Amino acid sequence: MAFINENYLKLPGSYLFAEIARRVTSFKNENPNADIIRLGIGDVTQPLPAACIQAMHTAVDELARQETFRGYGPEQGYDFLIEKIIETNYTKRGITIGKDEIFVSDGSKSDCGNIQEIFGTNNIVAITDPVYPVYLDTNIMAGRTGILTENGTFENVTYMPCTAENNFTPELPKSRVDMIYLCCPNNPTGTTLSREALTEWVNYARENESIILFDAAYAAYITEEDVPRSIYEIEGSKEVAIEFRSFSKTAGFTGTRCGYTVIPKTVTGRAQDGSKHDFNKLWNRRHTTKFNGTAYIIQRGAEAVYSTEGQAQIKETINYYMENAKIIREGLQAAGIQAFGGVNAPYIWLKTPNNMPSWDFFDKLLHEVNIVGTPGAGFGPSGEGYFRLTSFGNTENTKRAIERIKTKLKF
Ligand code: PLP
Repeated sequence: MAFINENYLKLPGSYLFAEIARRVTSFKNENPNADIIRLGIGDVTQPLPAACIQAMHTAVDELARQETFRGYGPEQGYDFLIEKIIETNYTKRGITIGKDEIFVSDGSKSDCGNIQEIFGTNNIVAITDPVYPVYLDTNIMAGRTGILTENGTFENVTYMPCTAENNFTPELPKSRVDMIYLCCPNNPTGTTLSREALTEWVNYARENESIILFDAAYAAYITEEDVPRSIYEIEGSKEVAIEFRSFSKTAGFTGTRCGYTVIPKTVTGRAQDGSKHDFNKLWNRRHTTKFNGTAYIIQRGAEAVYSTEGQAQIKETINYYMENAKIIREGLQAAGIQAFGGVNAPYIWLKTPNNMPSWDFFDKLLHEVNIVGTPGAGFGPSGEGYFRLTSFGNTENTKRAIERIKTKLKF
């Protein structure tokens, strides 16, 4: 008899998007002519940058010839990509990162989800609430949590509410935590943490020997100059922070898959006997054992993101999405709805009118103006009373959707 990992039984079903699909299908069946506009899309819709496409074509041709064929590459990623990452995202911002401190992967979801494997199972996990669900779910699977309680939180997890009241900035926990997940710019709230707030977190982590797991998947969307692009802009962070980056939303790689994790060699944890060990070594061991490298073709495509043309092309696409974000944010505000985010992120987080529960607001939006978004409650208990819209659709539909909200939605 093989026994199962019973931690999986603690996980609720992936209810959010399944429930959204169920409600939309049921509405469509009753209203076959309804012109539904989806502003809940969490995936990019614009094509890959031309520079990446060209680089990938060239790489395919290389693999077609005996003299230039490549099989397994280095598990950590090819130097040609790692060097460009370091130069563009770190050296230019005054941050020193070594080549062996970068691990290229098939995307941030895997990395944010797998990183917990190199941490002790007794660590206390802190997550913001609302949150990108991967951080919590992977720690549930690993047995770092208790069970789901009636108020929608898991036992043994420190939830850090992020609401309009605290300007979506998590407060330092009252009791000690070991692994702190921060996402900036944040999904789902679209908000960012200031340099001061991040400094407080880094100081907390240094004082408590905690580790910050910093998800910067949306860093490319930051428009305001004073918002840090990387946690390593904060003094002392190289002792306590691991950073995740992704080409998905940066350059449209959601389908082609590429990301990377930065683990400075100065980030350490302790064994039970008190000895210090660096996480870089542990991750290197894990990565080389369980991962066999990102496809060469994809890494060549990712490298092209850093070419002059690539940089111009990704900027154009990001500007396109951010123009949609502006239309949504300003449109909501004009309609008298409080809206947050959308300045440094493709997400707009709105406060539901009259504190309406977020699933009721979902139904109202769908039924009255035929727009689909994502209920905030799906991202954690503190998301109740909020709702997420995204700017990944096309501009024409975004404009039409907002016009409907302004002119037809009654509250
Ligand atoms: N982190 C956050 C906060 C995300 O929202 C997403 C994707 O939606 C990811 C990570 C995953 O990105 P990737 O496509 O690189 O796996």
